[in-house]
Amino acid sequence: MGKIDEGEHADTAPATEVVHLGRDPFAQHGFVNTPVYRGSTVLYPTLASIEVKTQPYTYGRRGTPTVRALESALTSLAGGADTKLTASGYQAVTTALLAFAQSGDHILMVDTVYQPTRQFCDHLLKRLGVETEYYDPLLGADVAKLFRPNTRLVYVESPGSQTFEMQDIPAIASVARERNIWVLADNTWASPLYCQPLALGADVVIEAGTKYLVGHADALLGFITSNERAKRHVELAAGNLGVCPGSEETYLGLRGLRTLDVRLARHQETGIRLAQWLKARPEVSRVLHPALSDDPGHALWKRDFKGATGLFSTILNPVPKPALAAFLDGLKLFGMGYSWGGYESLVIPFDCGTYRTATRWSAPGPALRFHAGLESVDDLIADLAAGFDRMKAVAP
Ligand SMILES: *Cc1c(COP(=O)(O)O)cnc(C)c1O
Repeated sequence: MGKIDEGEHADTAPATEVVHLGRDPFAQHGFVNTPVYRGSTVLYPTLASIEVKTQPYTYGRRGTPTVRALESALTSLAGGADTKLTASGYQAVTTALLAFAQSGDHILMVDTVYQPTRQFCDHLLKRLGVETEYYDPLLGADVAKLFRPNTRLVYVESPGSQTFEMQDIPAIASVARERNIWVLADNTWASPLYCQPLALGADVVIEAGTKYLVGHADALLGFITSNERAKRHVELAAGNLGVCPGSEETYLGLRGLRTLDVRLARHQETGIRLAQWLKARPEVSRVLHPALSDDPGHALWKRDFKGATGLFSTILNPVPKPALAAFLDGLKLFGMGYSWGGYESLVIPFDCGTYRTATRWSAPGPALRFHAGLESVDDLIADLAAGFDRMKAVAP
């Protein structure tokens, strides 16, 4: 039995690749899965082997066969040149930013970015002498009007955190490329299966593997996939910062990869069904989901993405707090908590009006972010319908 290598990417469907990439059973006695290598010290057989520095593995922090297996699979899926695994999605964000931004630089950060990324810019990057300017996610090529001689990078996240605005990544990447400005993309929502930012012109893709790759809410993991011109910078920063994922977490990433395609298809289907059902409810003012045909970002989503995952938001009509609490507190299948991408459904209230600076966010009523899990959609709808009944009992 041969194995599928990175170079064969173009010939096989993603559903096949997630099953076969990053494992080589006959290199490990026929066992199907790449084992967990635990290790700090790696031995060298001879003095000469220490001196020539050609041994593929040199020290645990610098990679193990388990780590390389997942990195090579992710590189191939994203159509990149190299991948660095990190201990969390947030560490992928900070490592990628530190790989490019330096003292005296100006960087352009989308206003709808994942909020902790914003905190990193406003605190640590600021202290290091990097100025962050936030921009409206709806600026396409017009982002060029914000370029300065010292602009180092443009950071995109599409759709936006919490509010799901779509960005025109190809338009932004094309004006940035003309000026030699790096483009970094947080692609956590779509995963490598549903969007390929490198093909759209980005140089670096950042993802929280914690979400759909791991998929079971049981581990933290992140990854950074770079194109050829960016990969040296990311490798150097990750090496300098001592970034390395845990062995067990890496294995859980590999294990999640095998079912990513089927899980995402189900998250997508259930997410769209829930979004459509919610949209038709009298308690709901708006649904924010780019796969819905009347969403303002739908055309960009359709052009650039191969699918939608299970995360979207809704704005309710105004209700008193006790009525909202009656809706949320009694839900049986939707848990309330941060993070997402696991097999279970979630809901969480949010308010981004307090921290966004380049755009104004205000909602008429409570804003809720939903994650559609892998449960039966009919059971999920029944749970939400019972919630709306409880809400009405409190505030008719
Ligand atoms: C969750 C998330 C992260 C951070 O991932 P962690 O693994 O929780 O550190 C980064 N970006 C986006 C868009 C996320 O949703």
